[in-house]
Amino acid sequence: MQRSILILGGTAEARALAGKLAGDPRFTVELSLAGRTRAPAEQPVPVRVGGFGGAEGLAAYLRQKGVSILIDATHPYAARISRNAAEAAEISGIPLVALRRPAWLWQPGDRWIEVDSVADAVNALGEVPRKVFLTLGRQELLPFEAAPRHHYLVRSVDPVDPPLSVPNAAYLTARGPFGQADEARILQDHGIEAIVAKNSGGAASYGKIAAARDLGIEVILIRRPDLPSVPSVETVEEMLAWLDHAPAPLK
Ligand code: NAP
Repeated sequence: MQRSILILGGTAEARALAGKLAGDPRFTVELSLAGRTRAPAEQPVPVRVGGFGGAEGLAAYLRQKGVSILIDATHPYAARISRNAAEAAEISGIPLVALRRPAWLWQPGDRWIEVDSVADAVNALGEVPRKVFLTLGRQELLPFEAAPRHHYLVRSVDPVDPPLSVPNAAYLTARGPFGQADEARILQDHGIEAIVAKNSGGAASYGKIAAARDLGIEVILIRRPDLPSVPSVETVEEMLAWLDHAPAPLK
């Protein structure tokens, strides 16, 4: 009998996993996106878009659709949906497994400052005006308006609209992956002195971290949020192996 998988996505890994599972006769697969990006990347399986209405809403959706395995392949900073997934799995008795990329680890030469929040990152930039590269989501940029003395270069998937109300900001729109050489060029062309980023893990956005190390540029890294403790794997390949032995639903 075919088993039905719901993948909570919005990451390159979720898309890659869906690609591996598309056409696998053992499974039917649906991918769920929050609907944050205006033109999301094309996906290899059917997609649904938008929130479920909290953990209860997600549990109801799982039941209604007869989902037998829930995969949380959301971004490591998307903590609310991961908490909802854990709670919905409890409520519904449907097995949950998370695909979580390991965080990047500090290496010799890295000039990292780790902070707990975007507001702390703003403070860590200090009083002296600096040229700062911001690689955060559109929704997270507002706190930088409290420090209008810096020059900002902002990169996001969708345009930042309205733009930040600071006197000096430039904008790049681009979707990863971003290679080290291209990242080094951006850092040098814009005279960047500090980067503010999340510790996303994975290869697609590591280029800026490696380039900053080579160029001796400071990186202010926002620490990862706490995520619920659920069965987890780190790679798409490990997830495929887990699915080969996936447990049956409890109720
Ligand atoms: P979040 O704060 O954890 O979630 C906020 C709400 O958005 C959730 O409660 C849920 O609404 C809805 N939601 C989130 N992910 C969803 C999904 N895959 N499918 C359906 N609904 C979803 O999430 P976020 O940080 O805003 O991230 C939103 C999406 O962007 C996620 O899919 C994530 O993988 C992706 N993303 C996030 C980041 C990041 O840095 N946060 C980076 C890259 C990609 P309801 O409670 O109504 O169900």
